[in-house]
Order: sequence, then structure tokens, then C-alpha cells
Amino acid sequence: MYKKLIVDSGRRMLNSGLTVETWGNISARDKGTGLIYLTPSAMSYDIICEDDIIAAKPDGTIMEGRRKPTVEFELHLAVYRARSEINAVVHTHPVYSQIFGVLREPIPAIIDEAAQILGAEVRCARYELPGTKELAAACVEALGKNAYACLLANHGAVSIGADMDAAFRVAKVLEMTAQIYAQARMIGEVKLLKKEHIDYMHDFAYHHYGQK
Ligand SMILES: [Zn+2]
Repeated sequence: MYKKLIVDSGRRMLNSGLTVETWGNISARDKGTGLIYLTPSAMSYDIICEDDIIAAKPDGTIMEGRRKPTVEFELHLAVYRARSEINAVVHTHPVYSQIFGVLREPIPAIIDEAAQILGAEVRCARYELPGTKELAAACVEALGKNAYACLLANHGAVSIGADMDAAFRVAKVLEMTAQIYAQARMIGEVKLLKKEHIDYMHDFAYHHYGQK
């Protein structure tokens, strides 16, 4: 079930325009067993099948899979070790989010969807080389205890959630917010939302919205 989720999510990422070619990577945690399922390294998302998915323990011990795991193996594991409520991590290289990763600037919550889904701002992690433990540590630090997304300096974005749909929602809202922010800054002065309004919308979206 988790292997199929990763295969399907790879195609979903490719079709979302949030990344190109084989960049970006995806993982999910099985809450029952604690195992983390990840995409393999450098394989095209349209040919990956369930046999190509890797299952690992949070400490990095590989339990299943014949492929080499994603180059950002450490980053994924570090996020799960740091945030027990998170069960899906989507790492993408989206164009507009990366504008702010290149500027190494946070993206403020300038639209209601961003306030709801992302919270007050999306921070940018310090630059570290891809695939390193240092990048994993920088990412965990930028996410902190509460954020659902961060930028990786000159590299990409990391979006996380309680499940895969939530992580994709974060990834899409992040990229939409970055696009609006970049274009608004080109033609005028951006008016920011008040912190009390952001906090209200964020709390409502994660704790009160929906049919339950
Ligand atoms: Zn990357």
C-alpha cells in the first residue's frame, strides 16, 4: 500500500509541474510499523514501479528494496525523526519557490491560503550541499516545530504533512504563494496580513475545518 502510494505520488509530482526530470523525491511513513518508504535515486517517475521503492527504519537501516535510495535520504529521515506527527515528505524544485531560495528570503503568508496551510512564513534553510547530513540538519532547523514547509537555499522546497495529500497541498500552496509574491513585488508594494489573522486562519484550517 505504501509502495503504491510512493509510485503514484511520483507521477503526481511529475504532473504537478513542481519539479522536472528526476529531481525531487518523496517519502511516506507507515504509522503502524514506523517504516519509511522512499523513492529511488535518479529514476524517472514515469517508469518507477513498486519494486523500486525503498523501505527504511528512521535510523537509516534499509529493510526492503534493491535500488539506491533518493540522494536526500538523510533529509527525509531527519524530518521524520524530528516531527512525530509528520507522515509524508515531498521535496520539489519548483520555479517560483526557488526564486526565494536563491534570494535566501522567507516567503510571508500574503494570501489566505498561505496563512491557512503554511502559517506565518516559510523560512529558508542555510545553504548546504545536496544529499548531506548538514542539509538535513539545516532543513529540520528551518522547519522548526510547527512549519509545514521550508526553502532550501539555491536548491528547492520541502513540504510536509500528516499524510501525502496534506504534503501535496502544502507544496502547491507554497508554489502559488511564491508566484503571487514574486509578481506582486515586481509591480507594487505587497500588503502583509496581520499576525492575528494569520494565526486564526492557520488554527482553523488545521483544527476546525472540514466535516468531522
Ligand atoms: Zn533536491
